[in-house]
Formats: sequence, C-alpha cells, structure tokens
Amino acid sequence: MLESIIDQSKILERISAGEELTFQDGVDLLEHDNLHVLGMTANSLRQKYVGDQVTFTSSSYVNYTNVCAASCQICAFYRKEGDDDSYTLTPEQIEKRVTTAKSMGATEIHIVGGFHPKLSLDYYESMMKIIKTNHPTLKIKAFTAAEIFFFSKITKNSIKEILSRLKDAGLDSLPGGGAELFDPEIRSDIARGKCSGQEWLDTMEQAHNLGIKSNATMLYGHIEKPRHIVDHLIKIRDLQKKTNGFITLIPLKFSLENTELEKKNKLTQECSSVYDLKIIALSRIMLAGVLDNISVYWVADGKKLAQTALVFGGNDLVGTAFSEEVYRAAGKSTNSSIEDLVRLVKEIKRKPIQRDTFFRTLKTF
Ligand code: SF4
Repeated sequence: MLESIIDQSKILERISAGEELTFQDGVDLLEHDNLHVLGMTANSLRQKYVGDQVTFTSSSYVNYTNVCAASCQICAFYRKEGDDDSYTLTPEQIEKRVTTAKSMGATEIHIVGGFHPKLSLDYYESMMKIIKTNHPTLKIKAFTAAEIFFFSKITKNSIKEILSRLKDAGLDSLPGGGAELFDPEIRSDIARGKCSGQEWLDTMEQAHNLGIKSNATMLYGHIEKPRHIVDHLIKIRDLQKKTNGFITLIPLKFSLENTELEKKNKLTQECSSVYDLKIIALSRIMLAGVLDNISVYWVADGKKLAQTALVFGGNDLVGTAFSEEVYRAAGKSTNSSIEDLVRLVKEIKRKPIQRDTFFRTLKTF
C-alpha cells in the first residue's frame, strides 16, 4: 500500500514538473485508491493553467429529431420512425425555438439529433441559414462528429464537403458528443451503429483543419475499465497536439435510467461520486499543458457534485443548457439559470465568468 502511494506520488511529481504521462501512468493512477492526492494534483494544475475563474456559457439546446438509425445501448433518447413519440422539427420550428432561447439570454445554440435516415443535406443547410440570417450574433454549435460521419454516409458526400457546406451556411463549431469511448472493445457494447472511434477522430481532424473548432467528450461510468479511459484521453491529447482544435474536454457521466444497459440488467447502478471526481482529476492530469479547459457537466453530475468537481481539476461548467433533452430522457433534471451558476461558483470562492463558445469573456460577476 505504502509502496503504491510512493509510486503514484512519483508519477504526480513528474506531471507537476511538466512531463507528459504515459498510458501506464494513467492506468496506475485510476486503478488505485488515491482520490485526495489525485485531486490535489489536478487542482494545482488547474490553478497553474487557468487560474481561479470558472466559466460557463448561456447556451440552449435544440434536439432536431429523436429518430435514429442507430440504437446505442447507452441511449434513452432515440426512437424509430413511426413511433408515437418520434419527432422531427422543421428548420422554421427550430428557428422559433432559437428566438425563444435568445430572448432568455442564450448566446450559443447547441444543436444535435438522432441519425435520421431520410433528412437531406439541404435540411441541415437550411437549418443553419435560417438561424444565422435571423440571429447573426448567435454562435451555432451543431452536429457531433458522429452525425457528420453519418451525413456523409447517407448523402454520399465527403466529410470535407459536408463540413465546408455547413460552415458556409453558418456553422460555427462542433459539439463533442458521439465520442463515447474510442476503444473498439468497449464501443461495440455501448454505441451500436455509431461510427468507430477512429472515424470520430478523423472527422474531428478534418473539421479542425477547416478551421472549425470543437469540443470533445468522454462517456464514463458504464462498463469500461481504466485502460479504456486512459486510451481515450491519450487519443484526445494526440489529436490536440496535432490540430489544437479542441476547445474543451467534457467528461460525461453515464446516466442509466431507460437505457438498454439498464433494461437488460447489464448495469444496475450509476458510478460513485468518488469515481466521478477521479475521472475529472485524471482528465486534467493527462491533458495538462495540451488542453487547458476541462468542463464539468453539471446536468449529469448534479450541482453539488459539480462544485466539488471544480476543485478536482474542472474550470468550466459548460452552460445553462436550457431545453436539454438527452439527459432528461434518462431521468436527469436539466434546468439552470445564469444566476444559479454564478451562485454555485461564488459558494466555492471562485470567479464566475460568462464566456462565449470559444472561451472569450462576455461578462464577469
Ligand atoms: S446516442 Fe445518438 S446515435 Fe446513439 S441511439 Fe442515441 S441518438 Fe442515436
């Protein structure tokens, strides 16, 4: 036990000295009972790279369809065409929702949906154009790399062509969803019908090369092992070193309710809050010096745990997430206001800052 603590302290000393950690270092850190030392290291790295501010956006979500050709075992959101509660919004309906979101103070609109087998590229371009024409100052963060890959397959256009056309129509950045975990061993068990991890990374690389920045996510707390988490973080780190196109990493806690993993009894409970904190801390540690922003997704964690995660390496709260539906389908409460987030940050004696999509300061509190 003592030997293992000493070994881990040596690993953490190396990261504090600016050294990049290896795959084995990451696995060792995640496998052992070391929450406090991991948290202290992550918190000091957070302080070193981004200081005491905690950022958030005023963001609103639009899920344009819940019809999906895939049927991921982790998903409570998708429906099949013809299901009573399936829906697809028209570009006009989406624009109406955006108008409402803007009147509530949103500066960013986050648009994602299922893999609809019949929607054309014209539909997605029209969606971008109608929003940008009516709300030129609003930032559009839309379509995960997994969706872009699907559009390419279904429309027979190259990924580059799809991205270029959407960018021309008004797309500002890509959200980080669809990444789940890259390792093929785990991916086939959680994300049936989605692109591979490598295809997700290749799509992101093409977006970054076209000047479209993006977020990255990592879905944890289901059936993974430490090696899958570390593999994921290292792949994000490698691509970031190549393109510098990721804006933030958002570790996402898996939400069990109404998913196939729950219904088939493959998983009976969500991960512990200790594991949540270790994941945030390890994300900060593995990406130190390469990606500065580690976001805490309060929608999945709950606001109290989110506060703690901010002292375990996190520096961003993602956003107000008005109208979030994906986690709501899995039983989570998804409402917040700017005032709520400001209070949450002030309670832990940090500095709340409202940011835009690209982490530029919009307002300090
Ligand atoms: S996670 Fe996305 S791709 Fe998978 S079933 Fe749900 S909506 Fe479809």
